Amino acid sequence: MYLTMIGLEVHTHLTSLKTKLFCSCPSDYVGKPPNSNVCPVCLGLPGAIPVFNETALKFALMVGLALGSRISDRITFVRKHYFYPDMSKNYQISQYDGPGTEAVAMGGEVKLRDKKIRIRRINIEEDPAKSIYPTGSMLTSTYTMLDYNRSGVGMLEIVTEPDMSEPREAREFIEKLRSILEHLGVCDGSIEGAIRADANVSVEGGERVEVKNIGSAKDVESAITYEISRQRAAVSQGLGVRRETRHWDSERRVTVPLRTKETDEDYRYFPDPDLPPIQVTASLIEDIKSSMPELPDQRIQRFMAQYGINEYNATVLVMDKGLADFYERVTLHYNNYPKVASLLINDYLRWLNEKDMKISQSKAGPEQVAELLRMLENGTITIKIAKEFLPRMIYEGKSPRELMEATNMTALRDMTILEDIVNQVLAENPEVVKKAKADSKVIHFLVGQVMKKTGKRAEPETVYKLIEEKIARI
Ligand code: ADP
Ligand code: MG
Ligand code: ZN
Repeated sequence: MYLTMIGLEVHTHLTSLKTKLFCSCPSDYVGKPPNSNVCPVCLGLPGAIPVFNETALKFALMVGLALGSRISDRITFVRKHYFYPDMSKNYQISQYDGPGTEAVAMGGEVKLRDKKIRIRRINIEEDPAKSIYPTGSMLTSTYTMLDYNRSGVGMLEIVTEPDMSEPREAREFIEKLRSILEHLGVCDGSIEGAIRADANVSVEGGERVEVKNIGSAKDVESAITYEISRQRAAVSQGLGVRRETRHWDSERRVTVPLRTKETDEDYRYFPDPDLPPIQVTASLIEDIKSSMPELPDQRIQRFMAQYGINEYNATVLVMDKGLADFYERVTLHYNNYPKVASLLINDYLRWLNEKDMKISQSKAGPEQVAELLRMLENGTITIKIAKEFLPRMIYEGKSPRELMEATNMTALRDMTILEDIVNQVLAENPEVVKKAKADSKVIHFLVGQVMKKTGKRAEPETVYKLIEEKIARI
C-alpha cells in the first residue's frame, strides 16, 4: 500500500464584501455584461493606486480566529509575479510569509470526524480576471477572451498541511470549511465559483503534483481519486511522477498536464510599495473575538442537546448552513424535532438534489413542512402520501392542504372500510394466503394489494397487523 499525501489550497471569495479588495467596484460581478464592472485599479492600468478594503482584514481575522490560527500583528502585501493573460499588471497582489513580509494568519486546524487537518497559512489576495474559451475548453479553444469583472475581487487563500490521505477527506475538509465560512458570514459558498481549490497529491515514490482550480468539493474528490490511480500506475511501471501542475477537465473527468511548476523564486515576491504594512491591534482582535458567531462544531453540540437529535443528523444539517437554518425555522412550528430532522435529511434533501436546487430555491417553506408533519402525526395523511406531496410542495409551492384537496388523498381512517378491503384481498388470493400462513414474508405481497386498492391511503403497518391477525384465524 502506497502512502498518499494530499494538501489543499482553497480559494474562497469574500462574497460578503461590498466592494473589491483594492478599489470601489462592486464585488458582486455575477451576471454582469463582460468588462462592465471595472475601473483603472482592477484593470491594472499603469499609475492606478490600490486602496485596501479594511473589511477584508476583519473577515480574514474572523476566519483565522475560527480556525485557531496565530494572527500576525503586522500584515503586508506582496506582488506575486507571473505572466498570464488574466492578470494585466503581471503580478497579483497577495501575501507571503517570508523575510519582512507576513500573511494574515499562520497555523490552525479544521476538525474532521476522526482527524485534524492542520492549516499552514491564510492569505488575503485578489482574484484575477476570468478567461473565457469561446471555441472549446482551456486546452482546445483557438482563442481566449478576458472578462475583468471578477478581477480584484477579495479572496482568502487557505493552505493546509498535507495531512489528508484519502480523496473523501479532501471533500469533507472543503465542506466543513465552507460551513465555517458561511457561519462566519464571510462567504456564500453556493455562488458559482466562490470556493475553488488546488489539490496537491503525491504517492510514495513520486513527486507532488498540483491540480489547479477545481470548482467544487465533489470535483476535488474526483480529481484526487483520478490522480492517485494515475500516479500509482506511473510509479509501479517505473515511470516515476515528476513535479508538475495539471488541470482538472471536469467534462472528461481526467487531469491533464499544464506546465512544470514555477518555484517561489520565479514569483519574485516583494512588498507592494503602494500598500503600506497594516498594524493588527490587540483591541481589533478582542472586538472580533467578542462578536464571533456560533460556529459549526458548537452548533452541532447545541442541536444534539436542544433538539435531541443524534450526532450524525446534527452534522448533516450543520454542514449546510442554509439547511440548518431551515431546520430551526421548522422547529418553531412543529415540536417533534427528530422527525423534522429525518424528513429533511432523508426526503427533502433528496428532492432538492434531484434538480440540483439550493434550499433557498425551494418553494416549500418551513411552515408548509411543519404542516405536512402535523397532518402526518394526526393521521390525516399517511407517510406514503406525505412522500408524494413533498416534491410538489418543493417544486410547485403547493401547500399540503391544497394537495390533499386537489388529489383527494387522505388517510383511510375508517377501520370498517379498511377491513372490507382486506377481506376482499384475502378472498381474491386464497393461494397466497396459504403461503402467507407458512411464511410471514408473503404477507407483504397482500399488504401491497391492499395499498393498491386503497390508492395508498392506508398506513402499511396497520394493514400488515390486520392481515396477520386475520390469517391467523383462517
Ligand atoms: P506552492 O507555494 O508551491 O504551491 P506550498 O509549500 O505552499 O507550495 O504547498 C502547497 C500545498 O502543497 C500545501 O497545501 C501542502 O500541504 C501541499 N504539499 C506539500 N508537500 C506535499 C506532498 N508531498 N504531497 C502532497 N501535498 C503536498
Ligand atoms: Mg500554490
Ligand atoms: Zn475596480
